[in-house]
Amino acid sequence: MKYVLGAKCTRCGAEYEALPTITTCKCGGILDIQYSYSAIRDHFSPADLEQTRDWSMWRYRPFLPVEEDSPAPPLRVGWSPLYKADRLAGVLGLKTLYIKDDGQNPTASLKDRASAMAVVKAREAGADTIACSSTGNAASSLAGNAAAAGLSTYIFVPSRAPKGKVAQLMIFGATVISVDGSYEDTFALSKAAIDRWGWYNRNAAINPYLSEGKKTVSFELMEQLHWQVPDYVALSVGDGCTIAGVWKGLKDLYETGFIDRLPKLLSVQAEGCCPLNRALQTGEPWSPMEENTLADSIAVGVPRNADKALNAVRESGGIAVNVSDEEILEAMRLLGRTQGVFGEPAGVTGTAGVKKTLELGLIDPDSTVVSIVTGNGLKDVANGIRAAGEPMLVRPDLDALLSAFDARNIRP
Ligand SMILES: *Cc1c(COP(=O)(O)O)cnc(C)c1O
Ligand SMILES: [Zn+2]
Repeated sequence: MKYVLGAKCTRCGAEYEALPTITTCKCGGILDIQYSYSAIRDHFSPADLEQTRDWSMWRYRPFLPVEEDSPAPPLRVGWSPLYKADRLAGVLGLKTLYIKDDGQNPTASLKDRASAMAVVKAREAGADTIACSSTGNAASSLAGNAAAAGLSTYIFVPSRAPKGKVAQLMIFGATVISVDGSYEDTFALSKAAIDRWGWYNRNAAINPYLSEGKKTVSFELMEQLHWQVPDYVALSVGDGCTIAGVWKGLKDLYETGFIDRLPKLLSVQAEGCCPLNRALQTGEPWSPMEENTLADSIAVGVPRNADKALNAVRESGGIAVNVSDEEILEAMRLLGRTQGVFGEPAGVTGTAGVKKTLELGLIDPDSTVVSIVTGNGLKDVANGIRAAGEPMLVRPDLDALLSAFDARNIRP
């Protein structure tokens, strides 16, 4: 870890050695990994990346807190495509829109970036078992990335987790504990079990290395944009680790001179569960909310990374906007129809937020916006069908097809 200085508490400023097993500060605050940016700047530049043939998140190793001799884990994580979404931009009335489809990671969500990092750090710690609690995607990504690396997993999910994600867990051979309770209850039980059995902890925000994995999405999107900084980066927010990681990545690039300014963050939550956005909008401290949205991955009533997330949005001069479940379903249809991108509800919530901010006049239609799709729609087929409906059902007969077309006003 040539360029890592240590870990620093975001609340009290206490400093720690960056051991692979560090969790939170004694004061309860969340740790942040610190780098020597001047040293990175002296040894690593965009020109080096042009020579790199590693098409994964590990192409940014000088910016990552891993030992030099730590092997990258087996699954290919990262380097998801960035699409210029002109048709969707047209529909939304926006000049320039890019979609980064992080549903194309090996277990089909952005969480793979954090889980790949967790697997490397667990190996550095000499652990053979990793545990986490999750709304679903952190779980399935941990289970898959750990399975590929030969580590075993104990996974706690709320019983509401969509079937697709649970199926992934089972296929990846995790020991799955489906908790009859909220995400908050699930998190508490996992914490008790981790304390009891001493497994390597991949819980959101507790483990400071996770957002270091997630930040690679920012490196990629900036490299894919040839370091031309967009005006906004939009994404959905649950625990807040993802948006905090995105901001960390952008700031890393800014501090080392890879980019010359910073975009604003667009923090999007569901109306039925928006404790962080409520804090941003009112200026009050955050307080818990019910977990009342179909976007299960961001149904987080007690966000675990509130401090870092709120700080990121505020520091960027960003915007917080909430969307209804109906607006989320509409974004699923829009992304599918205009771009061929199928996102799960929380995956498209950022895009729903872009539409909403334009409707509310909160961003200039001449802006350049990147919207990160954080998870694939096949993980939650039930909501895909809820968004788009059932197909017509016909007998195997051309006349039947003609009348079915007539009934629906389809004129081939
Ligand atoms: C986890 C997740 C998010 C939100 O990330 P947080 O770190 O919880 O804020 C958004 N979308 C998807 C698909 C996720 O799995
Ligand atoms: Zn502290």
